Amino acid sequence: MYQDVSNNIVRIRQRIAAACMASGRAPGEVRLLMATKTVPANGIRIALEAGETLIAENRVQELKEKYDALKDIPHENHFIGHLQTNKIKDLLKCEVTCIQSVDRLSLAEKLHQQLSAANRTMDILIQVNTSGEESKFGVHPSQAAELVKQVAAFGTLKIKGLMTIGLFSTDEVKVRECFRILRKLRDEIAAMDVPGVEMKELSMGMSGDMEMAIAEGATIVRVGTAIFGQRPTPDSFYWNEKF
Ligand SMILES: *Cc1c(COP(=O)(O)O)cnc(C)c1O
Repeated sequence: MYQDVSNNIVRIRQRIAAACMASGRAPGEVRLLMATKTVPANGIRIALEAGETLIAENRVQELKEKYDALKDIPHENHFIGHLQTNKIKDLLKCEVTCIQSVDRLSLAEKLHQQLSAANRTMDILIQVNTSGEESKFGVHPSQAAELVKQVAAFGTLKIKGLMTIGLFSTDEVKVRECFRILRKLRDEIAAMDVPGVEMKELSMGMSGDMEMAIAEGATIVRVGTAIFGQRPTPDSFYWNEKF
């Protein structure tokens, strides 16, 4: 089932390089993150053995299940899903280096409490809902700067930039507008010079829209389907959980 993974990665690397070239950027400016939801550890292993190093899960349960199975192969874990506060403890056991989906103060507060107690810090991105779709998590663009300021007060959380999921649409103008909003926000917040806040990363672009995201300045693209194939569960399962 995962026999195409290494070829797919070659193709994705070519797409990233071409998109960078087209927008006058160096391919090294864009990091490839592999979104591994629903992919079993043996599928992920093929990608890591092909030389990739960055993976991310959407659910703490899946992270836990695959974490031990992949321990022997060097890689880095980010977290890109909606995070419930009662799952923080389990997440922190799994050596995640960046939580890209911090989208509310209550979550930041709980993260800070547990990181403080463990005497640790965590890189985070602030997730912004640039598409206006209710089904997607993320802070509203108009509230993002305020959230950054509030979260920056928590010394254990190191803000490195912003993340978004673009609109699902064949209307390229509308999709690209999401990425443009995120880039503008990043620049505006960077200009505020909030102490301790780095506004460098723009995590945006997926299998279907990474070229546009790269043209708008993405520093991390998150790719699942184009590497691992279609997922058995619809994404609403991951993006529209209500608790
Ligand atoms: C699944 C997922 C991706 C990857 O989506 P594809 O369309 O499969 O490339 C990227 N970001 C997030 C947050 C995801 O949940």
